[in-house]
Amino acid sequence: MSQFDVTVIGSGPGGYVAAIRAAQLGFKTAIIEKYSTLGGTCLNVGCIPSKALLDSSEHFENAKHNFAGHGIIINEPQVDIARIIERKNEVVDQTTKGINFLMDKNKITVFEGLGSFESATQIKITKNDGSSETIESKYTIIATGSKPSSLPFISLDKERVITSTEALNLKEVPKHLVVIGGGVIGLELGSVYLRLGAQVTVVEFMDKIIPGMDGALSKELTKVLKKQGMKFMLSTAVSAVERNGDTVKITAKDKKGEEVVVEGDYCLVSVGRKPYTDGLGLEKAGVELDERGRVKTNDHLQTNVANIYAIGDVIKGAMLAHKAEEEGVLVAEILAGQKPHINYNLIPGVVYTWPEVAGVGKTEEQLKEEGVAYKVGSFPMRALGRSRASGDTDGLVKIIADEKTDEILGMHIIGARAADLIAEGVIAMEFRASAEDIARSSHAHPTYAEAIKEAALDATAKRSIHM
Ligand SMILES: Cc1cc2nc3c(=O)[nH]c(=O)nc-3n(C[C@H](O)[C@H](O)[C@H](O)COP(=O)(O)OP(=O)(O)OC[C@H]3O[C@@H](n4cnc5c(N)ncnc54)[C@H](O)[C@@H]3O)c2cc1C
Repeated sequence: MSQFDVTVIGSGPGGYVAAIRAAQLGFKTAIIEKYSTLGGTCLNVGCIPSKALLDSSEHFENAKHNFAGHGIIINEPQVDIARIIERKNEVVDQTTKGINFLMDKNKITVFEGLGSFESATQIKITKNDGSSETIESKYTIIATGSKPSSLPFISLDKERVITSTEALNLKEVPKHLVVIGGGVIGLELGSVYLRLGAQVTVVEFMDKIIPGMDGALSKELTKVLKKQGMKFMLSTAVSAVERNGDTVKITAKDKKGEEVVVEGDYCLVSVGRKPYTDGLGLEKAGVELDERGRVKTNDHLQTNVANIYAIGDVIKGAMLAHKAEEEGVLVAEILAGQKPHINYNLIPGVVYTWPEVAGVGKTEEQLKEEGVAYKVGSFPMRALGRSRASGDTDGLVKIIADEKTDEILGMHIIGARAADLIAEGVIAMEFRASAEDIARSSHAHPTYAEAIKEAALDATAKRSIHM
């Protein structure tokens, strides 16, 4: 029987990063993945393919609506959805192959097949053809991720009533896409098809979209997406989804309790994701789950079985690739006797709509609830020279700092390249910077990042220069 120091089950961003870090630290490492391609949800049916489609659809949107304003005259652009999907597949293929390269480079043994515990130290790998082998591992890291969840009364036919996975592979642009759930995935994929010409209606149970993010971002994003043509039915609880031929009928109750019906040709159900532990044989190893079906872990991400750890979407916390990656590194370093740490307050959240939305640290709503005395500085993107040059004038930067100490408690951005800009907030907060620290740092001109400096000036002493 093959023996390993560390075996990782699942090759998503949590799993493959854990394996690389373990190998770097000198452990004899294996990774088990049930699919033929490595990279998990993120690389195959999540982060990367969705961004590829967002980029393609953004090019189309620009060609259709923005080129003429820049003085570029082209014939009416057309969508070739087959090519858009094919290009997305090429991007996924290149990216997942990159993970195979990294596994080879780090001398990590890759097993293709379903990993399931035989005991706390033995894992059976069952291949598609039914053959199997069992390996022995001193430590195991569970990184089996998550799957799309649904509502009990919805039957997903995966043709017209679909999850994000199918939405990444449509053969036509929907005429009317009804999205159930105004969270990150629904808004990103809704944006893709809106830009490609679909009518898009988002039905959301809460009274706002992206409910976990700062209220200012949610408000601004609603305004901008409405301007782009997206329709919203907020405070609306879906009660039935029925498919009849090429039509999907969504029945819901609005906030007055009145029945509303919306019909489309596709319905994307994006109401969240659930941890995935099917077929893992956790009972044979004695690993416990929590009340929400997640693998239960302590602060060191160790399960109730001492040599078994768990990371990423399958445990508590934000379901984000970079959170999973940090946890993969943390566990490998703990196994090597190091004392790593993750500040979960500083895991940024991003929505890749256009404009992009990103936030880190506390929201204003959270600080109010916690009774913390704070001050707010903000700056609109439209006041930046860079934004006017590119034409991306929607959005704002909002910085929340401690009323007394000026320490930055939260940074919230909606605007062009917010996903990249938020790194400044993360770094500043990792080093416990004050708003004044940012305000006194030179920011290249003209850049979108100048809005961060201006918001920091506003938070420090209401002294932004360009407003
Ligand atoms: C449409 C979409 C867009 C997203 N966009 C972003 C984004 O822009 N940024 C971001 O941070 N996050 C994004 N996410 C979330 C991100 O994909 C997840 O948070 C991330 O993939 C979690 O990583 P993980 O390693 O925990 O698990 P996963 O990536 O889910 O990987 C788990 C792997 O384990 C394998 N597996 C499961 N059970 C077994 C078993 N018993 N044996 C062997 N293998 C097994 C699975 O096949 C899978 O490959 C997106 C998700 C979706 C669906």
